[in-house]
Amino acid sequence: MKNMKQVEDIFKPNISIKDLLACVKSYGSPENCETVRAAYVFAEKAHKGQTRKSGESYIFHPLAAAYFLAKMRMDPNIVVATLLHDVPEDTNVSLDEIEKKFGPDITSLVRGVTKLGKLKYRGVERYIENLRKMFVAMAEDIRVMIIKFADRIHNLYTLDSLPNKKRGRIALESMEIYAPIANRLGMDEIKGLLEDLSFFHLHQKEYEKVDKIRDEYLSGRGAYLEKVMDILKKELKTNGIDCIDIHGRRKQLYSLYQKLVRKQWEIDKVYDVIAVRVILKEIGDCYAALGVIHQLWHPCKGRIKDYIAQPKPNGYKSIHTTVFCLDGKIVEFQIRTMEMHDEDEYGVAAHWHYDEMGVRLPPKEVSWVKELAEIQKEILGKMSDLNDMKIDFFKNHIFVFTPQGDVIDLPDEATPVDFAYQIHSDLGDKCSGARVNDHMVSLDTPLKNGDMVEIIVEKNRKKPNPDWLKTVKTRLAREHIKNRVNNEKIRR
Ligand code: MN
Repeated sequence: MKNMKQVEDIFKPNISIKDLLACVKSYGSPENCETVRAAYVFAEKAHKGQTRKSGESYIFHPLAAAYFLAKMRMDPNIVVATLLHDVPEDTNVSLDEIEKKFGPDITSLVRGVTKLGKLKYRGVERYIENLRKMFVAMAEDIRVMIIKFADRIHNLYTLDSLPNKKRGRIALESMEIYAPIANRLGMDEIKGLLEDLSFFHLHQKEYEKVDKIRDEYLSGRGAYLEKVMDILKKELKTNGIDCIDIHGRRKQLYSLYQKLVRKQWEIDKVYDVIAVRVILKEIGDCYAALGVIHQLWHPCKGRIKDYIAQPKPNGYKSIHTTVFCLDGKIVEFQIRTMEMHDEDEYGVAAHWHYDEMGVRLPPKEVSWVKELAEIQKEILGKMSDLNDMKIDFFKNHIFVFTPQGDVIDLPDEATPVDFAYQIHSDLGDKCSGARVNDHMVSLDTPLKNGDMVEIIVEKNRKKPNPDWLKTVKTRLAREHIKNRVNNEKIRR
């Protein structure tokens, strides 16, 4: 996929098992590496002869997804299960065989992913059912979701070879379901990737526009930020504050897009297009560093946020401050400890992340029942209320489904006639009725987001009903109806 800079180095073409092994070796034990190698050989044999839509052999997909998680230094058992995640569903090899070879823990992960199956977007009802399955799996073992995210991110990255409708469906589902779950689990990097990749497929023009705006902004700022970071580094040292790392962090595209929309597209009103991240040893150092920054540069009023004292609902911790920096330019600083930093990037997955010393971080207390109840409320609430989806660019659009689960993109209030013409002119001309979510409706019924629509045809029908012109919403339908009706008149 062009233009997806964030994942290009992770999903490089021709990635091999050697790359994966080298990566796992950097934090895992030799036994871990042996299991990873064995799982690769096992999966490759099982998928032998299978290819993906793009033509490459199937094993490339689980390999790439596993590599993605290894890059995050995830627990080797998760990496192994990711290599095996499509084996039970797509091949003749059973879970029993996997269990014999890889033991109960890895098998239970693969089983969890397999149980979720390949979610299909087919009308709201069945969809909510699928979602419930997802929450059950998540509650049983959150690691299943981590694998699912990697699977989905690689699928989104390689969507180009799929037909447009299917791309739209997968991207929409990722944007609406997967990204909010990742967000709720505090997995900021993954949430950003899911959103940006989906954004690309759903609204490519907007994506490219924002990408260009961000690039132009950043190219003018690189040298300036280097200078700022240098000054701060020196000043922290002078004050005896141990600084682990200072780096610039650019805002993810979809999140920048949302902000730009709110700020009438004035990039100069967005203060965190690139933020300076300051990573320190202790919480006390964070407050000390805040003092140092405020002594160097004057803070903007009302822009100091202490998420250490008051974490965000998803657990996010940091201190943010926006200052009139060097030459009066406005710069945002994000101050945090290494532990907060890992938690921000990996969220609940931080628990399975190995640090630089190859040590697995201690488990975090997560009250699953409460967490899950909240996530369910949030996501399912949104699903049953698909009508007023809050995301701006869906406002004038609805997405409805064919009985096969394909997504059709229509303007607000479109009718079954619009839907029929969108699929095929012949279907429009011959349509005589419609079933929406398994109920018969009249052809002027406005469709709603998430409806599943089935068109009933009258085989001998010759021309569309001119009355439809009063209710259709698409130009395509209007033109077809007019043409057919006019031809009829001329012939007479
Ligand atoms: Mn997969």
